[in-house]
Amino acid sequence: MNPKPSICVATHHASIQDLLNDAEFRSLANREGFLVELRLDFFNDLSDETLQQALAVFAPNALVTFRHPLEGGKQPDVTDAERLRYLQRAANHGVKYIDIEARTPRDGFDKRGAKLILSYHDFEKVPDEATLYSKIWQPMQAQPGVDVVKIALMPKSVDDTSIALSLYSGCNDNSVRASTLILCMGETGLWTRVLAGFFGAPFTYARGEGAPGTAPGQPTWRELDELYRFRDIDKSWNVYGVIGNPIGHSLSPLMHNSAFAELGLPCVYIPFKVEGKVWGFFQDVGQYILQGASITIPHKESIITGCHEVDPVAQAIGAVNTLKHFDYADEGYTGSNTDAPAAADCLESALGTLKDKHVLILGAGGAARAVAVGVKERGARVSMLNRTRERAEALAEELGATVVSHDDLSALRIDAIVNTTPIGMYPNVDASPLEENQIPKGCLVFDTVYNPLRTRLLELAEKRGCKTVEGLEMFIGQGVRQFELWTGKAAPRELMRRVVLDALKKRQK
Ligand code: NAP
Repeated sequence: MNPKPSICVATHHASIQDLLNDAEFRSLANREGFLVELRLDFFNDLSDETLQQALAVFAPNALVTFRHPLEGGKQPDVTDAERLRYLQRAANHGVKYIDIEARTPRDGFDKRGAKLILSYHDFEKVPDEATLYSKIWQPMQAQPGVDVVKIALMPKSVDDTSIALSLYSGCNDNSVRASTLILCMGETGLWTRVLAGFFGAPFTYARGEGAPGTAPGQPTWRELDELYRFRDIDKSWNVYGVIGNPIGHSLSPLMHNSAFAELGLPCVYIPFKVEGKVWGFFQDVGQYILQGASITIPHKESIITGCHEVDPVAQAIGAVNTLKHFDYADEGYTGSNTDAPAAADCLESALGTLKDKHVLILGAGGAARAVAVGVKERGARVSMLNRTRERAEALAEELGATVVSHDDLSALRIDAIVNTTPIGMYPNVDASPLEENQIPKGCLVFDTVYNPLRTRLLELAEKRGCKTVEGLEMFIGQGVRQFELWTGKAAPRELMRRVVLDALKKRQK
């Protein structure tokens, strides 16, 4: 069995002095499961003496490299021989790893007790599979004395990252001497970093807290360690993710990973930025690694055509937000929608029952469809009010609802109002889809917007004496249902709520 993979934290410091003064990095110098990558080409005060000072602190966990200028190195005037001389000094001192680019001549280099990483970096593209395999990876791993082959590439889209799957399928088993680490840079390549251990690689790279990182898309070591539980991930784990674009600010990874950790489940949840066709991603990457997924904007509708089964609620809404691998087959996903029942749960828990209740929905987009289907399923009557009346009319006709205008509001008996427009969402926090005097006294007001937590609409509703429900409850509710669908276990709802709430409050500060 492979030992647990390590997290290699790349130094970003302009000088060795800065590095030595950095308490965060010093705390990693002896910490089990961590490596510190000393980028000698970054240091403007590099000399035999300062290197010695750095090694005196970091050697037990050091991975040392002096990057070649053609592969991102910062000191173009230093010769190969001089770079190698520094690396030899580090090896003589007894560091853990020495990383040398495949293009750098290594004549006379003796790795001593260190492990040798042979590396290849392309900051512009991903080569085609045949070139990568036979012209890059094979010659590297066949060289004597090589312990790790590291390949870092720049994908143009998430589809390009499938190259990591192709390469991993032929390595990191017992037939290949050197281990392989293949990293795709950028936001779309995040999964290749988080799943390095899943594929048998000995480590992955991270940046310091608040540091820029040495390659695009590097997560912080704390994210890898605490959010993703990187060091525990092996090939027995189940991988889930959220598929969307943009995806960088999604709180779903925090919510689901915290829940998996709380229950001690060997599961990890990763954001996947998918810009193009969503089923193209599943064909190239998703189907090989994902047991299930959350689907978000803009893929909720287009994902339906690729699902092998779609539950009736998702079918009625025309949108899927949850995928789960069939329990009885390796191929194919069932698609469902947890937004609709989560929205209905929010209203039901405040109103007692939805049977024969009159619910007014503001908006006629995707969220409006989900809320309308969810509350109608439980016996509510639905009216719709939308900026573009024709859109509301089309939806109302399809779902069996009525369309109203602002002028009708005072004459209607409404039990609950649900805002499904983005009005009031950050940064337009002073906006509200209804004026205070347009909100019927005594009705329940539920805003699906959850950034900010208390929207202007909810403040106005409170002033009118209305009960209110925050959009966060729907977000948590849909996540709880996803978690339970995937794992078959009761979700730790309170914990999920607390971590998301804390993160939102931090963001709002
Ligand atoms: P969507 O499909 O784009 O629909 C947006 C709706 O809002 C449309 O009906 C649009 O009217 C209306 N609208 C947008 N801007 C407006 C404005 N300035 N004035 C008046 N009406 C406006 O979006 P969606 O997928 O339904 O999502 C809408 C919101 O729901 C999101 O912003 C999100 O905050 C919330 N949501 C929350 C959760 C949750 O878990 N809490 C889940 C899903 C969605 P037109 O038809 O006239 O364009």
